[in-house]
Amino acid sequence: MNLLNINVPKDRASMILDHYTGAESYSTTLYLYKSNIVFWEEGNKYSAEMEIDLNKNPKKAKMIKQTLAREYGSFLITFLNADFSNAENAYNTFFVYYGLECLNHIDNIRKKYPIEYTSRYVSTKKFLDYYNKAFELVKKDYIKFQKDIRNTVDFVFNLHENNSSSDLDRVSKFLAYSIAIDLLEHFFSSMRFSIVKGYNKDDIKEYDNNDKIEELAYEIANDKTNNMCAYLYESTSHFALAYISLNDLIRNTKKNISICQNCGRYFLPSSGKEIYCELFNLDGSPSCRSYASRKTYEGKIIDNVAELTYKREYQRRITRVYRSDETEKTMRQKEFALWKTKARKQLSLYRQGKITQQDFCEWIEKNK
Ligand SMILES: [Zn+2]
Repeated sequence: MNLLNINVPKDRASMILDHYTGAESYSTTLYLYKSNIVFWEEGNKYSAEMEIDLNKNPKKAKMIKQTLAREYGSFLITFLNADFSNAENAYNTFFVYYGLECLNHIDNIRKKYPIEYTSRYVSTKKFLDYYNKAFELVKKDYIKFQKDIRNTVDFVFNLHENNSSSDLDRVSKFLAYSIAIDLLEHFFSSMRFSIVKGYNKDDIKEYDNNDKIEELAYEIANDKTNNMCAYLYESTSHFALAYISLNDLIRNTKKNISICQNCGRYFLPSSGKEIYCELFNLDGSPSCRSYASRKTYEGKIIDNVAELTYKREYQRRITRVYRSDETEKTMRQKEFALWKTKARKQLSLYRQGKITQQDFCEWIEKNK
C-alpha cells in the first residue's frame, strides 16, 4: 500500500492519524540537526524513524524531505510533554521531531523575521539563527497553548486531581472544556483535508461479487487487512495538529491518557493497568517501565546492566553508521536496521523475563 506517498509540503506539515493500525505518519521539512534518520525495515522507504543524536557533529546537519512514521498518538504526547522553557530544550523535546514549518501561522514571525523558506536550511548557522529568533517570538504562545491543552486533557481523562462524574462521556467533556477556555482561539481553524486512497485499480478487480466483498469486510472487521484509505490533515500550525490529534483520539479510539508515576509525563498506556511510561529519555537512560519492573524484581535500585549494554552497543553502531563515508553508508544503515530489529526482540524477551540478563548480554557480545 502506498498511503504515504505524499509530497512534503513547504511552510506546513501533513499528518495521517491511523488508529486502525496504531500508526501515525507525518511529512514536513526537517533539518537533521542533532538527529538522524534510520529505517526500521530494510528496503522500505516509508519506515523512516527519527533518532535523536545530541552529540552529532553540527556540520553534518542537512535538510531533508521525508515521511516519518511514529506510533499513533506520538505527536500529541510529544507536544504535551515538550519543554518550551528555552530554545534548546524546546528543540530537543519537540522541534527536532516536527520541524519549524508550522511556526508560520504566527504572523509575527513573518513580519519581524521574514526569512525565505530555502535560506533557512542552507547551513546550521542559518538554521539556528532562524530557529532562535523565531522561537523567542512564539515561545509564549507555545507555553500558553500547551497549558490549555494539558488542562483539557486533565479534565477529560481525570488527571491531576480532576475527578468529574463518570456519567459524562469523553467527547462531551472535551467539547465543554475547550469551549470554556476557548481552545480554538489559538490557531487558524482552516486546514487542508484529503482522503488518500491506499489501493489501485488492479488490487480491487477480484471483488466483483457481494460474497467476495463480504469476505473483504470480514477481513477488515478482523483487522487482517490494512486500512485502505487514510485521512490526511495538512496545516501551518502545530497547535491545530495537536487539537486534531486529541480530537481523533477522543472520538475514534478507546485509548486513555495517563500520567507516569515515575517521571510525571503524559503517556498512552497500551492496556488499562500500566502506571509507568516507556517514553524515550534524552540522557539515554532506560524507560520508566523497564526501570520500574527491574526495581520490583530486585527489590532495590541497581543499574540495569542489560539496558545499559543495549544502549552502549546501539550508540556504538549508530556512530559507526554516521561516521562511514558515502560509499558504505547505505550498507551500514541496512546492517544497523537489521541488528536493531533483532536486538529489540531480544531486549523485549529480557524485559518479559523470558531470557536472563546474562543471556541478553551474551547475545549482544556474539552479534557484535
Ligand atoms: Zn515515565
